[in-house]
Amino acid sequence: MTLGCPYGTHRVLEPKGVFPQPALRLNNDFSILYDNEILIEVEILNIDSASFTQIKHQADGDPAKIADILLKTVAQRGKQHNPVTGSGGMLVGKIKAIGSALQQRPIQVGDPIATLVSLSLTPLRIDDIIAVHKETEQVEIRGEAVLFESGIYAKLPSDLPQKLALAVLDVAGAPAQTAKIVKPGDTVVVIGGGGKSGLLCLHEACKRTGVTGKVIGLSHSAAGIERMKKSGLPVIPLQGDARDALWVLHQIERLTEGRLADLTINVVNIPQTELGSILATKNRGIVYFFSMATSFTAAALGAEGIGKDLTMLVGNGYTEGHAEIALEVLRENLHLRQLYERTYA
Ligand code: NAP
Repeated sequence: MTLGCPYGTHRVLEPKGVFPQPALRLNNDFSILYDNEILIEVEILNIDSASFTQIKHQADGDPAKIADILLKTVAQRGKQHNPVTGSGGMLVGKIKAIGSALQQRPIQVGDPIATLVSLSLTPLRIDDIIAVHKETEQVEIRGEAVLFESGIYAKLPSDLPQKLALAVLDVAGAPAQTAKIVKPGDTVVVIGGGGKSGLLCLHEACKRTGVTGKVIGLSHSAAGIERMKKSGLPVIPLQGDARDALWVLHQIERLTEGRLADLTINVVNIPQTELGSILATKNRGIVYFFSMATSFTAAALGAEGIGKDLTMLVGNGYTEGHAEIALEVLRENLHLRQLYERTYA
């Protein structure tokens, strides 16, 4: 039996000794499959929003150029690991082979699955790009990928369309963490509330704060505000630019009678919103940075610079039960399900 490292270090080509995520290049030759790997026939890549936004900008919005950038990255790195944002995304495909050491897993060849580990650490080979869907940040491809023994995945539910499930699973960590950290009666601000993860977070925040709480959703565009209004949730919508930190402070002061938020959740897809998130939050409160565009330096020095004593959480993409919690939102909230179906299904 040929076993690779459970964390996939056996596929790291450069530099030696690091884990697959920070590696520059992975081995994406799948002609030899290790006995503790799962081979996937890939159908859709769901590119992380911060990454797709950067690639779209670099490609001047041209789908053919977006495809070229993706092909080049994967050819160079053996994985879809955006060299600018450092982020990846996740994928959907069908299981093509299961290594002999993983035969006891409750999966079979042919099962449709979504990987729940980042594309930035998943060995991937793209044979062909079939379509780039700019509006959903999903890319249809022909290719293969490998999941390591430690790699988590979800079998796709039969009651939700595949593209919809993929979109939700991509950001599953955000609503699941929200569910865990919101307390009854809390005031919660979701910066980027009109986006894909933002709406899921708003649902969980409203559910967990209860009738004594307050939930504010900040989005940039009128369309984002409209999505919040259509969510059926008791959210206070706020439209504006989260990069304007003082504006954010004044608006949140106004909406909370000066008390500010117990918890601010940052799910934007652009940089420079750290200070606005910090200012929106009361002393001893929590800021949860799920956004991949977050700068540790800007957050740490920003809070220090204005003398704010906060707990700042890094948005771990994984938390126990995250896939179940995120998919359940769409079963609990039919308004949100319709909104998501219109965009993704
Ligand atoms: P999305 O659907 O594109 O939503 C982004 C949101 O940010 C939208 O509501 C958008 O508002 C808002 N926004 C953009 N610029 C803004 C500004 N200047 N002021 C206020 N709001 C602004 O993104 P997503 O898919 O939910 O992803 C959100 C973030 O999570 C991304 O950074 C992504 O990379 C990250 N992510 C993290 C993990 C992890 O493991 N931590 C996993 C997956 C994704 P409008 O729509 O109104 O313009």
